Amino acid sequence: MKTELFLMGGTCPECGKGQLFLIYESEEFDYELGDEKLRVKVENVPLEKCDQCGEVIAGTSAFRLRHDAICRTAGFYTPSEIRELRENLGLSQTEFAQLAGVGTATVSRWERGRLLQNRGNDNLLFLLTLESNRKLLQERAASRTNSNLPTPSKTDTAQLPPFASLAPTETTVE
Ligand SMILES: [Zn+2]
Repeated sequence: MKTELFLMGGTCPECGKGQLFLIYESEEFDYELGDEKLRVKVENVPLEKCDQCGEVIAGTSAFRLRHDAICRTAGFYTPSEIRELRENLGLSQTEFAQLAGVGTATVSRWERGRLLQNRGNDNLLFLLTLESNRKLLQERAASRTNSNLPTPSKTDTAQLPPFASLAPTETTVE
């Protein structure tokens, strides 16, 4: 655990006199996720506190824990879960980004907890866990780039129900 902490230690940057020491605190805060307001609780957040002025400093570990807590509260994948999802598919960040239709930098930021995906993208990540969905997306991407792809034949078009036949059922609803 301690090896994951990126604490500065030493002298307080605020007062320049006190020494920083490690404390663990539980936090509770509101987080606005689009139109939703989340109440987030985080246990044992590692922080550094000055023994002179009382300044509290949050480092990388604190930000990671907070980000994970926001993800869990929202019901989202955490950064490590996104990485795991991608690695289980045997895809590089670039390959995964192409499949999902987002930028490589975006995937990298999701996995490092530097960017929180929105609910739509979290749903997309969930859908990408299914092989059938990945195939559909790959086929769709191929059909966009392949100009030699056959266009729908006239017989296919003719088999579609005429638009007029749909109208009566819609208008007879009480
Ligand atoms: Zn201080």
